[in-house]
Amino acid sequence: MPKEVKDLQYPIPLQKGVIYGPMSSKRLGKSLGINLLPTDFKVCNFDCLYCFYGRTDYKYSSEHCPPMEGILKEVEAALRSDTYIDYITFSGNGTATLHPEFPAIVREVIALRDKHRLGIPVAILSNSTGLEKPEVLEAFSLFDMPIMKLDAATDTVFKNLNRPRQRIKVSDIIEKLEGMRGITIQTLFVDGEVVNYKGFELERWMEALVRIKPESVQIYTLDRDLVQMGLTRLTDDMLHRIADYTFKTTGVPVKAFLEQK
Ligand code: SF4
Repeated sequence: MPKEVKDLQYPIPLQKGVIYGPMSSKRLGKSLGINLLPTDFKVCNFDCLYCFYGRTDYKYSSEHCPPMEGILKEVEAALRSDTYIDYITFSGNGTATLHPEFPAIVREVIALRDKHRLGIPVAILSNSTGLEKPEVLEAFSLFDMPIMKLDAATDTVFKNLNRPRQRIKVSDIIEKLEGMRGITIQTLFVDGEVVNYKGFELERWMEALVRIKPESVQIYTLDRDLVQMGLTRLTDDMLHRIADYTFKTTGVPVKAFLEQK
């Protein structure tokens, strides 16, 4: 096992500010992170079993989110610096769409990117919620790379793995994703007490991909087993086989992100 995997802490501490990184990302290279959420506690409408920030403290949007003006000042300072970056990425301590001013912040950050870092793509790692609001959906169309989570396509596995806030249904998420264009789906496959990588679950997930028609799919697994959550990781070979089978079945390009050696 590579040293960096053995030494991973779980859960990791929350990001301490609006700007973090640039982080080295398997998928995005040098990624400058933007966190729109509080730094003292995690706000997410999911409570994924595998979340590396640990348990969700609040499942609703919070008045403790940093104000837009301060966020934009920090983003502009980071973009004016000479730090090398491949991507600007909305991610952070939960799900960014819970910030009450998410659509306006996205528009302003993209304007700042055009002013200071023209050509650097802006991405978001989203849990695919909030899309029922037209202004949020419109904001997603501004991203160069919207990466949308879909770990399961049945309500049972969705509830057990992502543990969403009440009333969030995966069927509604899939319907909204179907109306979006140019998106990437990201899926984390696990084994153990919750299984989403084979049989009925895999077939339903592939059916959802056929409906959504994403540009591409990114699949990955845990960096290591999460014994305390009853989850185990898949091997590189299993991920490869899922990627090949999914491509053959759906025609959607699939990239497996493997363990870094
Ligand atoms: S959606 Fe992301 S931030 Fe929220 S609980 Fe899941 S992994 Fe954590």
